[in-house]
Amino acid sequence: MLLEIYDEIDELKKREDATILAHYYQDGEIQDIADLTGDSLKLARAATQVDTKTIVFCGVHFMAETAKILNPEKRVLLPDMLAGCSLADSCPAPKLAQYQAKLCEQGVDFETVTYINSTAAVKALSDWIVTSGNAEEIIRRVPEDKEILFVPDRHLGSYLQDVVGRKMILWDGSCQVHEVFSVMDLFSMQRRYPAGITIAHPECPTNIREKSQFVGGTEAMLNYVSSFEQATDFLVATEANMLWQLQKKYPLHHYHPVPGVTCACNKCPHMARNTLDKLKHCLETGSPEITWQPHFEQAQKVLQKSLLN
Ligand code: SF4
Repeated sequence: MLLEIYDEIDELKKREDATILAHYYQDGEIQDIADLTGDSLKLARAATQVDTKTIVFCGVHFMAETAKILNPEKRVLLPDMLAGCSLADSCPAPKLAQYQAKLCEQGVDFETVTYINSTAAVKALSDWIVTSGNAEEIIRRVPEDKEILFVPDRHLGSYLQDVVGRKMILWDGSCQVHEVFSVMDLFSMQRRYPAGITIAHPECPTNIREKSQFVGGTEAMLNYVSSFEQATDFLVATEANMLWQLQKKYPLHHYHPVPGVTCACNKCPHMARNTLDKLKHCLETGSPEITWQPHFEQAQKVLQKSLLN
């Protein structure tokens, strides 16, 4: 059954001249059929190198939107248009514009640094776009005499404040998956695996990051794990599908998901909306498609300056 649908998708891919990009938080069966897997930064950059007419983006809406903004001439499909993101939703563009106006009235001289997990309308209101992979480098490019308004993730923002040593004004947003890791469960796992190494995504709250030996985005996690030559137990605090990618690339080690307070699965419900059936359906019908919007033009300038230079 699985092989059958893989064959059908491969056929449709050829017929539609399409490339499939998949985020590390997609189900393993989707990552398996993708032409390329990666984190937001890797996929955004890869989207600009794709030579097919169509990109199928297996991820959430803001990711597919970013691929379209960077490739206006290509057709970009998203298997499920309702695959959203709680973090992007926590910063609506009108509310951000209002807050920026208030800071201006107060005479605050600032630049807005925005995490890529945001809508195109929010990106268009920003000076810089960052991913967990390039945030430190970009923040160091903001002139020292400017304040920084960092949106939308307060946990990533607080982590970056510590790493870069620069105070920022933090928007009060968060990711519903990374926010719920249980520090008590992490303690008990660390007791169970005393030689284990805890690796956490910077979207996790401070109490989890402080108890981790390594903090980094998904691509950085893969690099870190690749440096271990002996079989090691890794306690992983990020979206659960990342374990599939770790296991596939570095099968020598054992990976244990850190449980959440409310549920032990840590799967992103938005990413989970994409399925193999929907992937096949969007190739068959050419829908749902991300279409060009007027505000994409300004978002494009900010994205190109931040990610491609
Ligand atoms: Fe958004 Fe969190 Fe899901 Fe990533 S894991 S898509 S930040 S809700």
